Amino acid sequence: MAFQDRELPCRDCENTFTFTAGEQEFYSTKGLEHDPVRCPSCRAQRKALRPDERETISSYGVYVSWGGRTPRQLHVATCAECANQTEVPFRPRDDRPVYCSDCYGSLRKKQEAQAAAEAAASASRIASAASSFELEGLSPQEKEESDAASAIAILDNQENSEESEE
Ligand SMILES: [Zn+2]
Ligand SMILES: [Zn+2]
Repeated sequence: MAFQDRELPCRDCENTFTFTAGEQEFYSTKGLEHDPVRCPSCRAQRKALRPDERETISSYGVYVSWGGRTPRQLHVATCAECANQTEVPFRPRDDRPVYCSDCYGSLRKKQEAQAAAEAAASASRIASAASSFELEGLSPQEKEESDAASAIAILDNQENSEESEE
């Protein structure tokens, strides 16, 4: 049975489209008896808006496999501290050292101790700065103003002394 191109009206956009001999042959091999009722572009549009059952299931399958049930991929890396092989749940980067869990743990402790020491030091700096203002009984802004006033006073003194020398 020979197929011939046929012009069919589209149900959606009412344009005519070509139902080619090749497509007709394809349809017949798939056992489809009915002619397509929509032009290819309207078919694609409907497919995008309402995916058929099979596509829904397959995309759900993809979603499930990415839904956290797959085990985390581990990357083999060399510890920057002890040079032992270790596995990390992220891709190691050249510019960031990777540590085994032992070294990472001791490094964390060291960093935490350092951070605590820095925090204590800055806290005492702030405390001493605050107490120095308290001793003078001035807020930081008032202190600036008094500094400016004393600078003017020094200038006045210099002018006076210059005058007195003449
Ligand atoms: Zn159409
Ligand atoms: Zn290590």
